[in-house]
Amino acid sequence: MKMSEIKIELTTNPKEKPAVDQLGFGQVFTDHMFIMDYTEGQGWHDPRIIPYQPLSLEPSSMVFHYGQSVFEGLKAYLTVNNETLLFRPDRNFNRLNNSNDRLVIPAIDEELALEGLKKLVTIDREWIPNAPGTSLYVRPFIIATEPHLGVHPAKNYLFMIIMSPSGSYYKGGINPVKIMVEQQFVRAVVGGTGEAKTGGNYASALKGQEIADREGYAQTLWLDGKENRYIEEVGSMNIFFKINGTVITPALNGSILPGITRDSMIQVLKSKNIPVEERLISIDEVVEAYQNGTLEEAFGTGTAAVISPVGELKWRDEKMIINNGEIGEVSQMLYDTLTGIQNGTIEDTFGWTIKL
Ligand SMILES: *Cc1c(COP(=O)(O)O)cnc(C)c1O
Repeated sequence: MKMSEIKIELTTNPKEKPAVDQLGFGQVFTDHMFIMDYTEGQGWHDPRIIPYQPLSLEPSSMVFHYGQSVFEGLKAYLTVNNETLLFRPDRNFNRLNNSNDRLVIPAIDEELALEGLKKLVTIDREWIPNAPGTSLYVRPFIIATEPHLGVHPAKNYLFMIIMSPSGSYYKGGINPVKIMVEQQFVRAVVGGTGEAKTGGNYASALKGQEIADREGYAQTLWLDGKENRYIEEVGSMNIFFKINGTVITPALNGSILPGITRDSMIQVLKSKNIPVEERLISIDEVVEAYQNGTLEEAFGTGTAAVISPVGELKWRDEKMIINNGEIGEVSQMLYDTLTGIQNGTIEDTFGWTIKL
């Protein structure tokens, strides 16, 4: 019923698509976008697909002042058989509603959002790049638009989906990165907004990122906000360690973002009978494993990179080189499995993919 309500206005002025070998990340956008309004009393209404265009907002729009905003990130892929595929998009809209709940933003209809996304990707299908490793990055987001400087949950919102063709994350092969453990700043605290995908978490993480940059490190390893001891995330990815044959990732504790890639990795590991544990893991345990030679692999996981192996971890004066600075066996297997399912070369026995 609601599905058919999505109105479609196609562009009369299609843009030129960038060359596949020139693709970066998040700078070029497709011809169309999905948009829907929320007004107090009326609820979410007017779902529509229109030409990609600038917004006109009051400077007093609440999102500019108090940060009431949430977002998601997922990808559409072109398979080796030229099919269009989405990877677990239902999880993204479900998580968006969890973030909404935390930020007191009214819930969206997840099925309607998925229907809108499918229509949008179908309309802009030719924007999905077809070179290996490339994809169409999809960014759903919600902002508070009520023009008011009073502090309260806004009465008006916009939900939008924009899309950007993105290049291969690993152009010259998978390169392990150098990571620095952050000791002064924290990303999130239990009870805060760490498990919501909201812009404020990113703004507060920039300082740690800047410090890491300055010291020649790619990302920050975040420790917990209370004891500064337990490992939480790496940059804006979830983190895994392989110690003595067992893969360990921090348990979701309220300050860690529940990554869909994280969940997928855990399921793949279980399906291959590789021991995997979700539990507290302290930096001391990692250092000890390094010192006694049982720290075998470390890697971050997220939609953008799928896997980002950690080649060096710096903690105080200790520079720990992991697996000779090379990608490990399990990391490689996980990367190959997930990207294989996404590009259609490996059968999806998990029921994760949706073909359009
Ligand atoms: C989005 C995000 C992740 C990764 O989530 P995926 O669903 O795997 O892309 C991890 N940590 C943070 C802080 C994030 O914002």
